[in-house]
Amino acid sequence: MSTTFSFEEPPRIIGTVTKVYSGLLVIGFALVPAFLIAYLAFFQDPGLKFESHAFHEIAIAAATLEGLFVTYVTWRCYLSSGEPLLRWLTLGFMGFVLVYALHGAFTGMAHHHIWLFLLYGPASRLVMSVLLLVGLLSYHRPPDAVERRSKPRPWLAWVAVFVLIDLLVGLIATSPIAGSLAVRLSMEGGALVFSTLNVMALMLRRIRSPLMVIYGISITSFALASLAFILGKPWNHMWWLAHAIFAAGFFLLSYGVVQAFRTTRAFSTIYTQEELMARLAEAMARTENALQELQRTNHKLEQLAATDPLTGAANRREFIQQVEAEIARARRGGAPFSLLALDLDHFKLINDNYGHQVGDEVLQRFVQKCLKAIRPYDGVARVGGEEFMVLLPRAALDVARSIAERVRGAVATEEFHTGTGRAVAVTVSVGISEFGRDGDTIDTLLRVADERLYQAKHAGRNRVVAR
Ligand code: GH3
Ligand code: MG
Ligand code: MG
Repeated sequence: MSTTFSFEEPPRIIGTVTKVYSGLLVIGFALVPAFLIAYLAFFQDPGLKFESHAFHEIAIAAATLEGLFVTYVTWRCYLSSGEPLLRWLTLGFMGFVLVYALHGAFTGMAHHHIWLFLLYGPASRLVMSVLLLVGLLSYHRPPDAVERRSKPRPWLAWVAVFVLIDLLVGLIATSPIAGSLAVRLSMEGGALVFSTLNVMALMLRRIRSPLMVIYGISITSFALASLAFILGKPWNHMWWLAHAIFAAGFFLLSYGVVQAFRTTRAFSTIYTQEELMARLAEAMARTENALQELQRTNHKLEQLAATDPLTGAANRREFIQQVEAEIARARRGGAPFSLLALDLDHFKLINDNYGHQVGDEVLQRFVQKCLKAIRPYDGVARVGGEEFMVLLPRAALDVARSIAERVRGAVATEEFHTGTGRAVAVTVSVGISEFGRDGDTIDTLLRVADERLYQAKHAGRNRVVAR
């Protein structure tokens, strides 16, 4: 059985449909609380109550602790990215905690001082919704200056503002107007209006970054929580549902903050998965290019490190490595190889008579002639001023001697034509050593070739000595 896969791009329309579908899903998630509210509003007796002070106190204590933690994490993100949205978000969380805590603290007053207990709830949501709206309007503003971020005074001023709000709410709660529906409705309704405006602004500005989608779902929850509080009565099911919806929004927003903390510490520079994939592909292509460039450069450097700049022949280090490799090969396979030690005759005189520059040119020409005379897989190395060596793989003494003679003859029979126009007569003396017969270490092979080179010099130069 054979299976064929098609790796063609799916039709463009599918891309569009999936995009619209995922947008609708986000809206669907955000509106889940609305279904719950409608369910309770239409099918549940609003008179049913669950009045548990202990549960309320524990829940609010937990919310206060969590709120403080989230405030801190948001503040750390702000310090690091300076994003104005995060400054307002920190203040929103802080304001909420400082006002809402009293709602929990006054739970016990539910019977003899109902307003002191109740009003801090809507007040805390109003404070937060206003600050979050201001925050959203600052989205995409440039980051705050670093010095400004950690200045304590503005933060302390805001704490003072929140304490004042606490006092003000207390004043209202103990005044004759406290009982009026208008007071409670204006706070809760205000929170509803500000949160709704916030969602609308988010949608109108078409802000789509992943954390802002989370932000949008959260503030939709805050708006719906306020709606549920308006529809509910203290301790009835709608009232508890309102708490749950608000908590869900709060948790989700804190999830966004924690994601920011663990990545870029900013809300605007978190990327979508699509963007991340594109960036990853781009970065990988760049890395691949850089790697190739590096390999090319390395190759060049290796070549530079292995060659003599004047003649282009291998240098001594490279030559020693080649000989070592050849010794290892010869030891394994038993194939013979030989070395030639070459030294130009009376080179000092060439320098003296024609100048150093002509001397240099002679060295270059010598290497060219040498390369022509040897086999393609033999290697020439410059191991001293006018001293060279040739490695002859798979060459026993006879072959080595004939190659050496070829080099010597090519140098001696034809004068060197240099750039100055003057023809220079050059000769070379050569000593040979053969692996096995003359030794099997690099030191002995070099020494023997050198000794024979000096014998060639003593015997009158321009000759090859092989034994
Ligand atoms: P012999 O036949 O005994 O080898 O005599 P020689 O003059 O060739 O030997 P000696 O070692 O006395 O002199 C080598 C000369 O090579 C001395 C030095 O100035 C010259 N030399 C060394 N390196 C260079 C170089 O890179 N360029 C030039 N132009 N001359 C060099
Ligand atoms: Mg010499
Ligand atoms: Mg010399």
